[in-house]
Amino acid sequence: MKKYISLFNLMVLSIFAYTQGRPNIILIVSDDHAIQTIGAYGAQFGATPNIDKLEKEGMVFNRAFETNSICAPSRAVMLTGKYSHINGHRDNLSVFNASQDNFGKQLQHIGYQTAWIGKWHLEAHPQGFDYWKVLPGQGLYYNPDFINMDGNRDTIQGYCTDIITNLATKWLDQRDANKPFCMVVGHKATHRTWMPDLQDLGAFDNQEIPIPPNFFDTYEGRIAASRQDMSISKTMRLGYDLKIMDDSLKKTRFYQSMNDAQRKTFFRYYDSLKADYEKRNPKDRELLLWKYERYMRDYLSTSLSLDRNVGRLMNYLEDKGLLDNTLVIYTSDQGFYMGEHGWFDKRFMYEESMRTPLIIRYPKMIKSGSADDMLVQNLDYAPTIVEVAGGKAPADMQGLSLLPLLRGTVKNDVWRKQLYYHYYEYPAEHSVYRHFGIRTERYKLIRFYNAQHYWELYDLKKDPNEMDNLAKNPKYQSVLKKLQSQLRKMVIKVKDDEALQILIMHNNEN
Ligand code: CA
Repeated sequence: MKKYISLFNLMVLSIFAYTQGRPNIILIVSDDHAIQTIGAYGAQFGATPNIDKLEKEGMVFNRAFETNSICAPSRAVMLTGKYSHINGHRDNLSVFNASQDNFGKQLQHIGYQTAWIGKWHLEAHPQGFDYWKVLPGQGLYYNPDFINMDGNRDTIQGYCTDIITNLATKWLDQRDANKPFCMVVGHKATHRTWMPDLQDLGAFDNQEIPIPPNFFDTYEGRIAASRQDMSISKTMRLGYDLKIMDDSLKKTRFYQSMNDAQRKTFFRYYDSLKADYEKRNPKDRELLLWKYERYMRDYLSTSLSLDRNVGRLMNYLEDKGLLDNTLVIYTSDQGFYMGEHGWFDKRFMYEESMRTPLIIRYPKMIKSGSADDMLVQNLDYAPTIVEVAGGKAPADMQGLSLLPLLRGTVKNDVWRKQLYYHYYEYPAEHSVYRHFGIRTERYKLIRFYNAQHYWELYDLKKDPNEMDNLAKNPKYQSVLKKLQSQLRKMVIKVKDDEALQILIMHNNEN
């Protein structure tokens, strides 16, 4: 009997030791946060000092990508570690099947407390999280509603990004301190319509805003790009997007949720811009540049609160003695166009939206100030989180654990050389044709389908801005054939039957 008791005690002790040794995990997921605006990726706006600090103390991934660059599908991929065609959440128009496996459930099985706070956007109630409190859909920037676990809603006064951090630290205060935790902090910022916190209004109004080299793109050789509806010139609206509006627009829900004091300060600022706009009355090129600058300034100002709240959360961890035993991941649901190709929004497999920021801090494993250039994807977050927690990523998760990269023990020749991408949301807002493709270290091959079947091929080394579609260039036919063969193999490997059918059925269309 004594032997059994001591064995039992030993087991309890070892489980306790195992639990104590495991890191806490925080995954911060912002929305539409473009690397072109983040200092850690070379931006000069000075909008992200706290995110940049994470990079100085951790590892920045210079080649982090999405599998499907749009809000809810990206979260579904992060959560499940599976491509959209496997997790079933292909576009923003459907409801996620939350009953399937995810990293939250995996972590619950191995003794973690789990929470998802803030933007969730998957419509079905979260599963795999002991606690959750999420924005309905996109949520509001001012005085937003949150859905509670009982299905009821609270309206919380204040600015959304601050509130989400408050809810996160409140949950951390109340958690069981004897167990490790995994918390997702989902931010609404910097999603359209880029409504800054009151204290940040006008923060970038005196700053020079450079114009991207392909701002005046005319889309030669790129049919889908020529037919999109996401340009700053035609799609971006003065009222809805840039807040140059008359009183009737101020009655829409974005502004109705504000209290009188918030509305007064907010419109004191935007009405002065409106007066300036009317005085100048810009037309054509001048109007386009005026819209672009206003877009950039609103976006950057909105990102200030996001960055400040990353800092607040990090300060909280430090104050509570949690900083060095917590692995912190900063990412976005995808990148965004900041005027490249004349656009805002995302969706395309082009670099600006396929890329995403990814910075990870965990000094016990990661050398401070390090950078990684391997091809990684949001598909990798779930298996990474499970393995950081001491679990084993289920075989059906399609991503790779980033642990060897974080430890700096991977050689370039053993890591993946190609990424797969598939975008589905068409016909829909912004009119981006469906497409799938592969990105290698040097090339990108894209197959557009549904509205129009054709290929795009880019040599990223010679043409990083993706302006020159080489698919019909005679000099690139052998590269094209090789990539087409690689794409077909990839489609089979990731079990994308729909894409395989398209390759088979439309083999002769180019
Ligand atoms: Ca998004």
